[in-house]
Amino acid sequence: MKNKKVVVIGAGVAGMAAAIRLALQGYEVSVFEKNMYPGGKLSAFQLNDYSFDAGPSLFTAPQLIADLFSEAKVPMEDFFSYKKVAVACHYFYQDGTQITAYTDKEKFAAELALKTNEAPEQVNAYLNNAAAAYQNIATIFLNYSLHHWSTLIKAPILKALATLKGPYLFSSLNKYNERKFKSDKLVQLFNRFATYNGSNPYKAPAMISLISHLEQNEGVFYPKGGMISITNALYQLSLKLGVSYTFGASVEQILHSGKVLTGVVVDQQHIAADIVVSNMDVYYTYQHLLKDPIKAKKIKQQERSSSALIFYWGIAKSFPQLDLHNIFFSADYKAEFEAIFKTAVPFDDPTIYVNITSKLEPGIHAPVGKENWFVMINVPANSGQDWVERVAFYKTVIIQKLSKQLGENIASLIEVEEVLTPVTIESKTLSYMGSLYGTSSNTKMAAFMRHPNFNKRINGLYFVGGTVHPGGGIPLCLSSAKIAAQLIKEANNIK
Ligand SMILES: Cc1cc2nc3c(=O)[nH]c(=O)nc-3n(C[C@H](O)[C@H](O)[C@H](O)COP(=O)(O)OP(=O)(O)OC[C@H]3O[C@@H](n4cnc5c(N)ncnc54)[C@H](O)[C@@H]3O)c2cc1C
Repeated sequence: MKNKKVVVIGAGVAGMAAAIRLALQGYEVSVFEKNMYPGGKLSAFQLNDYSFDAGPSLFTAPQLIADLFSEAKVPMEDFFSYKKVAVACHYFYQDGTQITAYTDKEKFAAELALKTNEAPEQVNAYLNNAAAAYQNIATIFLNYSLHHWSTLIKAPILKALATLKGPYLFSSLNKYNERKFKSDKLVQLFNRFATYNGSNPYKAPAMISLISHLEQNEGVFYPKGGMISITNALYQLSLKLGVSYTFGASVEQILHSGKVLTGVVVDQQHIAADIVVSNMDVYYTYQHLLKDPIKAKKIKQQERSSSALIFYWGIAKSFPQLDLHNIFFSADYKAEFEAIFKTAVPFDDPTIYVNITSKLEPGIHAPVGKENWFVMINVPANSGQDWVERVAFYKTVIIQKLSKQLGENIASLIEVEEVLTPVTIESKTLSYMGSLYGTSSNTKMAAFMRHPNFNKRINGLYFVGGTVHPGGGIPLCLSSAKIAAQLIKEANNIK
């Protein structure tokens, strides 16, 4: 087996995790990345004295990173450290109510009882159900290929079926939450978890209530140095294991002769490979690299997840009432999701997420007494909207809303600004329509419809990342790499 060659297309978090796992299996691994830096969506940049994480800001399930280091027998502390934060999120409602979502379960339940009158037993029961669903059902999605009987047969299916309740599949998340909670504010808070994979809580099945388990039972974590430390850690670990990287290198084609994979084309050069792992958006992989428009069209029929509009602002003031993660809810959440997924029109009261890493590392990510604001709203994936116009519209709306809720003229505090739109998300990482999480989870079959982690017709071609099974977000992307590496191991009978 020694010296078998693997090419990984793309150095996103899943591509690097796959490279690590395959290097550990003894393969010679080369990663080709079109950008000049690793990380894909998980990157960072500097604006004068302010530093910003460009994409993901919420870090859950750190064990998945720790697993890579422990499997490599490399001390993680040499490359990466993180801590649990006391507050998962600070929620602001338009009637002035503020809810602090403590990561300590008892404190969280007590806070909800105080602010919404919801009985702590009700909140605890909800989170216990989410824990059981996560442990018994999500575990199958996160660890097994749903499309390969040889691996699926090992999955603890009976346990999952015993946990599966009718409402998980046949109710929307919103309906489920309305049944569980008396308080509208709490329904809105728990509906928000649908956005963690770019979905609509009024359509997505109640099954995704299990996402709340990660945040409210397991906790929210902060990587020292910000989210970019995850990219740096995976990159450094892979280098240590002998993975080679070529940056500024776009893979143009995947080569195969019938069922036999032969390699890739980069800069018009044929690079031979026994195995290719594509971390590129699966739609574009079929459309451009495999020249298979029929398969690409089939993938395209699945609804895309939402995208985002982000303002990165250097703010010349410190706001003690804000935390690492803050949400300013819209008054009409249902109408907001109609605008994102149905009408795709601008919405004048968006829910605003503000992430401030300088809260945890003051004086490092922003000058002392100032803050680095990552201000994000959910918007539809790009279908040709006029984003210049929408950026101007949303900037006004966001500034008005934050100024009102924080009692400060925010516009006058913005020292530096950068903007990310669905169009720039697409151009930076070749994510079709700029969607954040590949396809949405708005139907009960969506979780089963994502592309498998392998190609059924070309032996040796595998897929990882947010557009394939099990889906988008850092934990799921890391899981996709684990599943693909396991499939490769089984296909090659490596002990
Ligand atoms: C604004 C934003 C906020 C988010 N917030 C969160 C969050 O808080 N928490 C969370 O868990 N997730 C979040 N996500 C989602 C998360 O970032 C993604 O699911 C995850 O990073 C995707 O990783 P990936 O490995 O699939 O690939 P990507 O990051 O999409 O990387 C793919 C890589 O492949 C490269 N590539 C593409 N085509 C080629 C080619 N032909 N040749 C060579 N290279 C190629 C691209 O340049 C890119 O580097 C967010 C995403 C965004 C954009």
